[in-house]
Amino acid sequence: MARLRLKSLFLLYFVASCGGLLYALSQLGQSCDCRTHLVAAEQRESELLSELRRVRRAARARDRVGAGRRDDDGGDDDGGDDDGRPLPTIYVVTPTYARLVQKAELTRLAHTLVLVPALHWVLVEDAEEPSALVRRLLEGSGLEHTQLHAATPSRMKLADSDPRWLKPRGVLQRNRGIAWLREHRAADTGAVVYFADDDNTYSLELFEEMRWTRGVSVWPVGLVGGLRFEGPVVVEGRVASFHTAWRPERPFPIDMAGFAVSLSLLVSHPQAAFDPDAARGDLESSLLVSLTSAEQLEPRARNCTEVLVWHTRTERPKMKQEEVLVKQGKGSNPAVEV
Ligand code: UDP
Ligand code: MN
Repeated sequence: MARLRLKSLFLLYFVASCGGLLYALSQLGQSCDCRTHLVAAEQRESELLSELRRVRRAARARDRVGAGRRDDDGGDDDGGDDDGRPLPTIYVVTPTYARLVQKAELTRLAHTLVLVPALHWVLVEDAEEPSALVRRLLEGSGLEHTQLHAATPSRMKLADSDPRWLKPRGVLQRNRGIAWLREHRAADTGAVVYFADDDNTYSLELFEEMRWTRGVSVWPVGLVGGLRFEGPVVVEGRVASFHTAWRPERPFPIDMAGFAVSLSLLVSHPQAAFDPDAARGDLESSLLVSLTSAEQLEPRARNCTEVLVWHTRTERPKMKQEEVLVKQGKGSNPAVEV
């Protein structure tokens, strides 16, 4: 009797496990929760891929518009094949002056610019003579470059005790850069000119945004004007106004880092220059009023909704300990370049 019970118990166990196994096998290959997740992920992937293709198409279309406009201008059309055409050169004009952080600033900027194709760095020293430090830095940078200089007269110089906004900085140097371009690069009509201070922070994308500038292109600048960003406000593809908190009535209330100009426009307006006597905040306008109008500005960086350049500033290093050591005749070795 006990044997019979044991046997039927075993049989029951056998049938139950076979049933379980069969059920498990029958579930294989059927849709389950994890498969649902997989399908959702695949769908998201395909959405992202088509978004990527859309962005690429838009970028190509924008480049074609830029190219078409150049052609309208009687620009240097080399057959109209978009992909095969050489990139317009970007001339980056940078005023710079000797101070403790100069080499650090220029090293950082050089290491950004070297990643940008078809770029020529016009570095203009605020000095009576070109310096060996800047020459060595340029030669070692691997960049196409030109070293210029123009000294700011002392009456126009900012004293150490003056607030930084009191007098415009780098004005004669930028004008020297423009004069050099007019004299030596006038024929390079597809080229673009950008005024890049040595202490700002530049995204690589910014340079591709300005690449096909026809007249004057514009975009927002981060961390400037006492705001998170300052920049043009675009309505239906045109600059309608400017987001700024300070003297909004200025003709072009935009920072130096917020626009690029086509070289042909600078060449066709030989009098256009930055005004060394411009009032506070009017320096950018002093050049732009003679070149363009707000309606003609070409908005970039997703209709001026993306910040790709930041008006960063570098803290002046404290040299208290250096002074102490110098007094003891034990200052840092002056033969070591910093
Ligand atoms: N600069 C110059 N000479 C000067 C002071 C500044 O050439 O006496 C340059 C500086 O290297 C920078 C640009 O002018 O590339 C703007 O100067 P700064 O960054 O001090 O201006 P801010 O950012 O305060 O407006
Ligand atoms: Mn600065």
